[in-house]
Amino acid sequence: MKALKATTSTWVILALVLCTVQNGDTAPSATGGKPKVILVSMDGFRHDYLQLAENTPNFDRMLREGVTMPWIRNTFTTLTFPCHFTMVTGLYEESHGIISNNMYNEEMDNRYFRMSTTDDEWWTGHETIWTSAQKAGLKAGVYFWVGSASEIQGTRPEKWFRYDGSVPFEDRVDTLVKWMSEDDFDLGLLYFNEPDHTGHLHGPKGNETLHEVERMDGILGRLLDKLNQTDLLDKVNLIVTSDHGMAEVDSDKKTIDLRDYVNDTLIRKVVQQGAIAHLIPQEGKTQELVDALKDVEHMRVFVKEDMPERFHYKNHRRIQPVVLVADEGWGISQNATYRRLNIPRFLGDHGYDNILNSMRPIFAARGPAFKQNAIVESIDTVDIYPLICHILNIDPAPNNGSLERAAALLRVPPKPHDHPSSPTRCISDFSTKPDACSSTLAILFVISSLMKWNAVY
Ligand SMILES: [Zn+2]
Repeated sequence: MKALKATTSTWVILALVLCTVQNGDTAPSATGGKPKVILVSMDGFRHDYLQLAENTPNFDRMLREGVTMPWIRNTFTTLTFPCHFTMVTGLYEESHGIISNNMYNEEMDNRYFRMSTTDDEWWTGHETIWTSAQKAGLKAGVYFWVGSASEIQGTRPEKWFRYDGSVPFEDRVDTLVKWMSEDDFDLGLLYFNEPDHTGHLHGPKGNETLHEVERMDGILGRLLDKLNQTDLLDKVNLIVTSDHGMAEVDSDKKTIDLRDYVNDTLIRKVVQQGAIAHLIPQEGKTQELVDALKDVEHMRVFVKEDMPERFHYKNHRRIQPVVLVADEGWGISQNATYRRLNIPRFLGDHGYDNILNSMRPIFAARGPAFKQNAIVESIDTVDIYPLICHILNIDPAPNNGSLERAAALLRVPPKPHDHPSSPTRCISDFSTKPDACSSTLAILFVISSLMKWNAVY
């Protein structure tokens, strides 16, 4: 097992240095028959957990038989709801509008969004992968995913469940495989709330967390076995990934208490707290609030309009006027004393800058569409949506992803006309700057139209 671990580590290092290493057989074309895709998310599965855990034979097998990358680049902010909805829409968080796990919308009668909220209007109508599949006449089932319990564009997945974290992971696997085999579904999505939960409690390097990683390896093994038993293993394109990583924190010791610097005369609401905080200033007090916080150690303060471009996190009305981003390992609280008394101490957290190594999630894929025994350059989570659309041979909705980037994973490269939506589209219907967005869109559209025209004629 140790030799195998060394091999895995070497793969990652090689990939980092060489950017692209392709190993083994890339020649065989996809097998015949109807393409099928299963997308699995294991929440909070940091990209290096396989090096930290001792015994992960099923992941090791998946890496040998499929394609992987050092990590997949996820979006900012690195929270569960935004990152999961990005995977199934191909949209940045400012584009799909699920910009946090907790949101507040004054225009919707001062309503709050929490992780249990399924009211359809929060989900904005942006097309998900299951909607795209069903529009094309395919069958899609979702065993828990952010957004799957809400009606989006007038549809839901053919099979779906309201979220219940107590459902045994084995039952989720067995049901999904039944959908794919007996019901002949084309697309299946499967979500597990581990190792995130254990990672929060014990930190990313805690023994309990690494044991949970090994348990998730067993769940992957069950999925591979069930697919094998139903003669689907070599027909299904299986993607296993995650929404974010996990940083080492100490919620009792490394918390910034906003009450030490500001009070209610400057802040009207704190909508989100933790690795990131969203603040609504009192009327006319934005600059005063920023000035009061700008020199606080262990966090950065942004006026929404000045968020770094690489975050793709400013053009949405649900992003509040002032955004605080904690340094890795730190948390921001509206009332640290209350928090300590009411929330158990935790040693792992996420939501930080997506450039941090600790925030990066795992990615592995196997199946007839994918290269075997290959390590490629990292792609972005916005690329997953156009990638699945390509494999299922369906038209993608406009998205921020790039099939061109994701093509590195594929045995058979896509043809040039298979890139209709890359690289970028601003979704401006909920934007605070629709005009700027529309102008960019118009320029991109003209350029891409000219390029397509030249390519075809
Ligand atoms: Zn998560």
